[in-house]
Amino acid sequence: MISRHWIDLRSDTVTLPSAAMRQAIADASVGDDVYGEDPTVNRLEAMLAEMAGKEKALFLPTGTQSNLVALLTHCGRGDEYIVGQQAHTYKYEGGGAAALGGIQPQPLDFNNAGGLDLERVAAAIKPHDNHFARTRLLCLENTMQGKVLPLDYLQQLRTFAQDNALALHLDGARLFNAAVALSVDVSALTCHFDSVSICLSKGLGAPAGSVLLGSADFIGEARRWRKVTGGGMRQAGILAAAGIFALENNVPRLADDHVRASAIASALTASGYKVEPVQTNMVYVDCNGLDLPVLEEFLRSHDIRVNSAYRMRLVTHMEISDEDVGLITEAFRAARELV
Ligand SMILES: *Cc1c(COP(=O)(O)O)cnc(C)c1O
Repeated sequence: MISRHWIDLRSDTVTLPSAAMRQAIADASVGDDVYGEDPTVNRLEAMLAEMAGKEKALFLPTGTQSNLVALLTHCGRGDEYIVGQQAHTYKYEGGGAAALGGIQPQPLDFNNAGGLDLERVAAAIKPHDNHFARTRLLCLENTMQGKVLPLDYLQQLRTFAQDNALALHLDGARLFNAAVALSVDVSALTCHFDSVSICLSKGLGAPAGSVLLGSADFIGEARRWRKVTGGGMRQAGILAAAGIFALENNVPRLADDHVRASAIASALTASGYKVEPVQTNMVYVDCNGLDLPVLEEFLRSHDIRVNSAYRMRLVTHMEISDEDVGLITEAFRAARELV
């Protein structure tokens, strides 16, 4: 039986490793990474540290664990991090920092640009007084729901963090999308942060893996927390090989995903949908007047999968072709008749 071909827009995590990536995995030299002896993991860590302009890197199974390990390294029990209300590190990681680290979140609403207003952050920093948690860390996300944080804002964050003695962590799950959108090296986006987490399993197309970046001291401590949280893998070069392949082959092509997301947005706007301006590979659609479960089912009947659990979000990735873009926009146009 031939399995159904889905046009899967739920996330850029759904891509499958290509034949060439599988070959790189098969060819990988491996060793025990808990002993620091996996040459492929070591190569991936060195490669990404170099690209990001950081001293050291640490390979982890998932982005959630990478962010958790960063929080555990920056903060102790009774410390606080300031974070976006809709941030992955606050809302979508099972409350891990609080549950496992005794770290208190102080969430604030994101502004329209995907950042946190620094006056509001300043007002949320707790005074040094036994009544309060100790505010230690400021946490940002880039891209944030597809939005790219502006370069001058990153500079302001650095100055602000320094002035207020806060550490600065970036959840850069899709940081390469931001770098490609701005046509800058990723190091221009990482240089202002003390620690940065990057996912290899989103638009870059690896089956698993994230990398945490920072100073040698920071990563030394993070390596301990990775072990504590059960993330010390053994012959992990099998996975790291896919990450290296992704970094060597799949970065510039992210621009194609951005072009296709923009094309979908324009066509949907022309069909009468309200669509948020697209900056990278995510299209947020306001389906005003359409019942979301009905629309989702209609799209499924056209072999299109979407995720509208929170908001209707369409994510482009390496398995979405120009032909698919045509089919997607046609299905959405036909769905208008459902109203
Ligand atoms: C996907 C994602 C993560 C990490 O998710 P995992 O599925 O645990 O790898 C972190 N932050 C953001 C913004 C993400 O989109």
